[in-house]
Amino acid sequence: MTVLNRTSLTTVDALASSLADRIVDTPTGYGGVEPDQQWAQEIRRLAKARNATILAHNYQVPAIQDIADHVGDSLALARAAAAAPEDTIVFCGVHFMAETAKILSPDKTVLIPDERAGCSLADSITAADLAEWKAEHPGAAVVSYVNTTAAVKALTDYCCTSSNAVEIVESIAPDREVLFCPDQFLGAHVRRITNRTNMHIWAGECHVHAGINGDELTAQTRDNPEAELFVHPECGCATSALYLAGEGTVPEEQVKILSTGGMLAEAKSTGAKKVLVATEVGMLYQLRNAAPDVDFQAVNEKASCKFMKMITPAALLRCLVDGADEVDVDPTTREAALASVQRMIAVGQPGSGE
Ligand code: SF4
Repeated sequence: MTVLNRTSLTTVDALASSLADRIVDTPTGYGGVEPDQQWAQEIRRLAKARNATILAHNYQVPAIQDIADHVGDSLALARAAAAAPEDTIVFCGVHFMAETAKILSPDKTVLIPDERAGCSLADSITAADLAEWKAEHPGAAVVSYVNTTAAVKALTDYCCTSSNAVEIVESIAPDREVLFCPDQFLGAHVRRITNRTNMHIWAGECHVHAGINGDELTAQTRDNPEAELFVHPECGCATSALYLAGEGTVPEEQVKILSTGGMLAEAKSTGAKKVLVATEVGMLYQLRNAAPDVDFQAVNEKASCKFMKMITPAALLRCLVDGADEVDVDPTTREAALASVQRMIAVGQPGSGE
């Protein structure tokens, strides 16, 4: 555990802050600060001083969601970043999300409260892996889920979200091979719907979503036969959910395969009293706020993303005090990545990313 030495860093009007002096660095992230009223006031004061807007992903801890100017999925937040009048974006999410914001808003300063907040799914394919895969399939179209690094996006023809992946794959000429990466569960979902036989799927996965398995889902649905199921297509249980519907264990109309934004929209209109939710548990906070009368329960309570949870109250305070960590994308990579991201935005709806 390291107590940060503030005087060695560039600061904004905060050296006197007793709060900032309490920040400690640990292997699992920055700690030492509680999200109380003093913290909230300091965050607002510093954000104003930096002319910064704070964006928070749906999987962030409640205190971060509550202090943010915008809460949403990665695509909606990238759009909010581009539209924001402020010249600094504080992106409370994981690194690839902040990179996507930088690709769309190169003239803005993009900060992430802890640059160690990575993503196991984005890490499951590197640019070198993709270049090698492309060489084995010359002429194939590359479709990458938004959870990829800027370097992978730069080698991609079409970025996609979970809600437009099917549409994008269907728009590619039927005789052209498709390389789909990095998520194998989303890829399987798209292949099942499109019946495409010349689609190759990278065997990547998110450790959190893959951990929500079919056995848990089966047990929960048998215990709660009336409940609806909201399932993110990246989940290891997406196939199980469709199987359960197919065999009649859960009526088909009770199973909804939805992006995080889709879940929020559905929460507001569902007639169900209880909903089982198969995605990262941070989503429950948003769903319960959106529809307080519905009983939302996690399929797996332990499905928590340690990277998302690295954006702690202390990390956000440090970010605004020090102007760190800054996220940059080199101009060549950015230019190459921009076209694939713009294609995704042209087809995707806000609320349809992870
Ligand atoms: S929940 Fe999974 S896909 Fe999402 S940021 Fe965490 S590791 Fe990545």
